[in-house]
Amino acid sequence: MHYCLPCDAVFEKDLRICPDCGSRLLTDDERELWHQVQEDLTNQSFVPVHVLEGPIDEAILSELLSDADVAHIVRGGHGYDAFRTAFTAQEGWGVVLVPEDDIEKAHEIIHLYQSSQVVEEG
Ligand SMILES: [Zn+2]
Repeated sequence: MHYCLPCDAVFEKDLRICPDCGSRLLTDDERELWHQVQEDLTNQSFVPVHVLEGPIDEAILSELLSDADVAHIVRGGHGYDAFRTAFTAQEGWGVVLVPEDDIEKAHEIIHLYQSSQVVEEG
């Protein structure tokens, strides 16, 4: 089965593109992932803290935030290619969102990450 998010429609046939709106259709796995993201977003109030420049930026920052136990969501970015049509980042590669409670922690991590990039020694 395939799903069209913009139309909220289900297609039994093996289609890749929605015949109604032209959006890329989601597989079951992608749809599941989408709902998880939606749930995360509604359960906590996430705020954007950083605009990612590219996949390396995303990978490093994601790891740093995970290491610090900061929950985070990347809108746009590598893992969300499937949703680009429905969920396009405003600028850059993608946007990192963290829970409101973790803003300060996230800012610290991002600041350290950015200053370490500027120095580039060793
Ligand atoms: Zn559609």
